[in-house]
Amino acid sequence: MSSAESSSVKTIKNFIGGEWVESTSTESIDVPNPSTGEIIARVPLATREETAAAIEKAAEAFKTWGKTSVIKRAKILFALQQLLERDKDELGTIITMENGKPHAEAVAEVGRGIENVMHAASIPNLLMGDSLSTVATDVEVTNYRYPIGVTSAICPFNFPMMVPFWMFPMAIACGNTMVLKPSEKTPNLMNKIIDLTVEAGLPAGVLNVVQGAKDVVNELLENPTVKSVSFVGSEGVGRYVYEHGTAHFKRVQALTGAKNHSIVLSDADIDDAVTKSLSGGFGSAGERCMAGSVILVEDAVADEFVAKFTQAAKDIDMGDTNEEDYYLGPVIRKENQERTFKYIEDGVKDGAKLVLDGREGVPEGGYFCRPTIFERVSQEMSIWKDEIFAPVVDIIRVKDLPEAVDFANSHHLANGACLFTDSATAVRYFRENIDAGMLGINLGVPAPVAYFSFSGWKDSFFGDLHANGKDSVEFYTHRKVVTAQYKQGRYNK
Ligand code: NAD
Repeated sequence: MSSAESSSVKTIKNFIGGEWVESTSTESIDVPNPSTGEIIARVPLATREETAAAIEKAAEAFKTWGKTSVIKRAKILFALQQLLERDKDELGTIITMENGKPHAEAVAEVGRGIENVMHAASIPNLLMGDSLSTVATDVEVTNYRYPIGVTSAICPFNFPMMVPFWMFPMAIACGNTMVLKPSEKTPNLMNKIIDLTVEAGLPAGVLNVVQGAKDVVNELLENPTVKSVSFVGSEGVGRYVYEHGTAHFKRVQALTGAKNHSIVLSDADIDDAVTKSLSGGFGSAGERCMAGSVILVEDAVADEFVAKFTQAAKDIDMGDTNEEDYYLGPVIRKENQERTFKYIEDGVKDGAKLVLDGREGVPEGGYFCRPTIFERVSQEMSIWKDEIFAPVVDIIRVKDLPEAVDFANSHHLANGACLFTDSATAVRYFRENIDAGMLGINLGVPAPVAYFSFSGWKDSFFGDLHANGKDSVEFYTHRKVVTAQYKQGRYNK
């Protein structure tokens, strides 16, 4: 046992067919608390055989669940919603412990998950088909929606609650069953969620959790019983999942990396833009797919914005988020901290101006990086080209809005973007010309509420139907279109 290891390190189990099952895998990894480095769990990396067993259980459960009344399915989701509300605080504590984000942000994340359950619980309305009574003489057509069968989900570490909730509530509400793989870096939360789904009355086999890494993913991508793959993670892995999953004839939605641009115009409320950009750039230690990691500022207000933003970033408090609700917690792993420090070094070598250096004054113990700000950043530099996924912000001065939009559009990632302005015509120009799927006006880069789709563009998304909103109902169902003729009956001569 290492010095950082606690005496009660638990081994994470899989949940298959309604039973907690110990993995037979010989490979496992330790899960540290990123604020302290203390080992809090050990996660076995499940084998392909274990994953196939979970898929089989999900297929068995589908035979009944797919035909269970939509009202009963909705009632279980309503019950789950209540339990999540009851345990919100405890769930937030687990997220903070394994992800490192402050408790207040973790509880807000739980709230986003609950929103997804509420959306899925309205399934009786969402699942309704449509019909046309007279397409030809005495002929009517009706469209019915059906579940697709066994679905799967592959999740990232940065939202251990919200992302799985983009997937399983709607999948099961539509009548599907699911095998879900949490990130091996944050395996604890989903197992607590399973306890709540059992308490809510979800039947065995409807939702199965298999913990692990590549082998689990490859089985989900190749096993012919799996009909769909919902992936959220980095761009490289997303490309692989999309190519490999579709090559095995599955529906795939892959939500991937981001480099989100915020634009601050001279007519904006600068203090408000500073506060919101601070949260966008440094909230959750920059580990958000909606992080505002690039800020384009109109020349006329650039000096004022940079001065205020830098001062506010210097004032950010940072520390062990298990102890106190610091604004800034750690990044997820030592490798992520080292990778971030390397980007800072490269940014300096490439000629960017380091306004605030996040390598200085970091607390001991965990994987901390303080807020980092660069100016004079160009499109050739890795600090702009790559998603760093850490509290590092590039500030670029621009002459006007069209120059800012062109700069943002030259990036191949296009999840979100936002604009700070007081001008309606600027808003319209921005909305019509920016190549990004989720836009904020006088907000940070916003993650849309669950009733709207999470609509990344360009290489931030591979697939057709997005997560959330009406797209998610389409993704998790297929249709029967029934054309019927009623002629020469007693009432129809
Ligand atoms: P990741 O790609 O490393 O991991 C995501 C999942 O893929 C994990 O479950 C992991 O086990 C699995 N995986 C990793 N490498 C694999 C491989 N070689 N083969 C098969 N499976 C593999 O991502 P992460 O670091 O956990 O999450 C951060 C990334 O997720 C960022 O790029 C972020 O932008 C992105 N993200 C995107 C969105 C979005 O909506 N677009 C939302 C959240 C996070």
